[in-house]
Amino acid sequence: MELSIVIPLLNEAESLPELTRWIARVLLERGLTYEVILIDDGSTDDSWEVIEALAREDTALRGIRFNRNYGKSAALNVGFEAARGRVVFTMDADLQDSPEELPELYRMITEDKFDLVSGWKQKRFDPLSKTLPTKLFNGATRMISGIRLHDFNCGLKAYDQRVVKSIEVYGEMHRYIPVIAKWNGFRRIGEKVVQHQERKYGVTKFGLERFVYGFLDLASITFVSRFRRRPMHFFGTLGSLSFFVGMILTLWLTGEKWWLAYHNLRARDVTDQPLFFLALVAVIVGVQLFLAGFLAEMVQLNGPRRNDYLVRETLK
Ligand code: UDP
Ligand code: MG
Repeated sequence: MELSIVIPLLNEAESLPELTRWIARVLLERGLTYEVILIDDGSTDDSWEVIEALAREDTALRGIRFNRNYGKSAALNVGFEAARGRVVFTMDADLQDSPEELPELYRMITEDKFDLVSGWKQKRFDPLSKTLPTKLFNGATRMISGIRLHDFNCGLKAYDQRVVKSIEVYGEMHRYIPVIAKWNGFRRIGEKVVQHQERKYGVTKFGLERFVYGFLDLASITFVSRFRRRPMHFFGTLGSLSFFVGMILTLWLTGEKWWLAYHNLRARDVTDQPLFFLALVAVIVGVQLFLAGFLAEMVQLNGPRRNDYLVRETLK
């Protein structure tokens, strides 16, 4: 099978017939073999009934239904596990992404040998309240990850099968799949300008909280991908630094006190000086960070995934 199209959906019943027909038209025209995997992420409308009806007529359609709403990342992760195609696509169910883009994305993966190609909604049809924070979000992600994409959160993306089979998307991490992929060694990341439409039916499923969560996720994904296997390097470095500063200050305060006493000069009480409290805090914080580092090492030592390296090829 050449293509798998993974579509997470939450209450998108009206869009599904149009979407699946459109995909079929585009791909059959070009003689490509494909499957469409619709993941119903706990819809409360009749999305699942619609999927069942559509699948009766179209053998290329597969459906997975969650027992409740787990979120887009969970739906994508399950879709990735189920996908059988050489190239795996993700796309939103709300008809904002156009299936006409699929063949060119497919070509970029198979011929240009990209690991991942992300869509770029250069001309977006969304309200300003969404496009402006998105710009900030993309800028920050570009800076931290070093990946030069304009539109990290675009729902329309294409992957070489190896990528989706080796990464795990959890929490709200669907916004950072290119970042996760890069940190797993998939460096050929491309971009294609894609058509974007206004939402035709239904309403958006994400509010402004997406930006708060988005930044927190970026912080944790950066931390996890750099230090998951060696947390002590993170906590230990900061801890030693803080402890060291605290010790220097303490020595300074002690030395000064003695020197003044030795020369019979009147000295201030140690506890009268702001520096004393700074030294105290620095030492305590340093020790705490160190302890956090040890604990993190122990947790990771007992974790089930201590040595899960991704092997690209083996000889003999
Ligand atoms: N979606 C989902 N689970 C959720 C929220 C959203 O599967 O908990 C799906 C939704 O049905 C759509 C896609 O994720 O197919 C993108 O959502 P939406 O169009 O609401 O996001 P926006 O385009 O506003 O960023
Ligand atoms: Mg949408």
